[in-house]
Amino acid sequence: MKRIVVKIGTYSICDKNGVPSKEKISAIGTQVAKILRAGNQVILVSSGAVGAGASVMLNGKIPKTMALKQACAAIGQPILMSLYRQFFEFYNINVAQILLTSDVVKMRERFINARNTINTLLSKKILPIVNENDTVSIDEIKFGDNDNLAVNTAVISDSDICIILSDTDGLYKNYGTDSQERIKIVEKIDDKIRSFIIKKPGSLSTGGMESKINAAEKSIKMGIKFVILGSKTPDGLIRYLINNEDLGTTFVPEEKIASKKKWLFLITHNPKGQIYIDEGAFLALKNYKSLLPAGVLDISGSFKKGDAVRIIFNANEIGRGISKYSSEELKLIKKNPSSNIEKILGYTNGDEIIHRDDIIIA
Ligand code: GLU
Repeated sequence: MKRIVVKIGTYSICDKNGVPSKEKISAIGTQVAKILRAGNQVILVSSGAVGAGASVMLNGKIPKTMALKQACAAIGQPILMSLYRQFFEFYNINVAQILLTSDVVKMRERFINARNTINTLLSKKILPIVNENDTVSIDEIKFGDNDNLAVNTAVISDSDICIILSDTDGLYKNYGTDSQERIKIVEKIDDKIRSFIIKKPGSLSTGGMESKINAAEKSIKMGIKFVILGSKTPDGLIRYLINNEDLGTTFVPEEKIASKKKWLFLITHNPKGQIYIDEGAFLALKNYKSLLPAGVLDISGSFKKGDAVRIIFNANEIGRGISKYSSEELKLIKKNPSSNIEKILGYTNGDEIIHRDDIIIA
């Protein structure tokens, strides 16, 4: 049994004006039903809310402002869900809607909560259908594109594979020319791989090959296999997953890592500052101890309590973690024993700067 995230792009489910297509839902949905019947668990991440809304409110034109885009998502999301519900009813599969914003990743309790909800739904054989909560998303809490959302969903749900169904059936070298060549397997995402990305002009969807490659990078780092498959390839999901046919582009995952560590990887993706430590602290961290103020030599950047930071020793990044103190507070308490924290600040957030559970060592 495998736990699989399947992401469906806007144009894999809607026509060019954003109208959701029953045929497209049926082509993908039939495969999902078969994969479930074969004993796997599936979580769908579906785009198309903005497109479906635009087809109703703007005659399929691309919404130009954030407010219009959010209004389109509010109209389109229930349209999508009702189509999925109708389709899967035929197979006796109930569906559930999950709308996420990125604070679900930033806050550990929300992360665990989302995981528990998804686990409960899967254990009851209900098909979760995830989208970004576009209507309330502002920059600070945005996943931005559904390729990124799909990887985050795969991490939250501890999935084995993240499959992106796209109108392009994989990553190509020289795409669109006579000599185009599908890249079958990617072991490492380097400049050469990135040079194959072709940027497309604006559309009803947010992603593109670049967001897929960024998502792939995150995914394989967290030990989750990542696949770009053509949504128009007949029975592509079944042929790839069940018949092991050579389709699409597979990004080979690095080593599997523990769930808590995956969350740390996600959350420390955009560090807000640096903490420079001495040798004593470096050795302590290597021995899975917490980082104490005594070992902090200096701080750079501006971060708040709960933000991700880089940990630097001898000019090298040796790890990342979640700071329990802000950069301003740390400037006051660095090089001090923990027993001085309360004297200096007038309060304490605890003896450690970064708890050992909140550190990943490179
Ligand atoms: N969440 C958007 C929607 O449902 C799609 C974002 C994307 O295209 O990546 O329309």
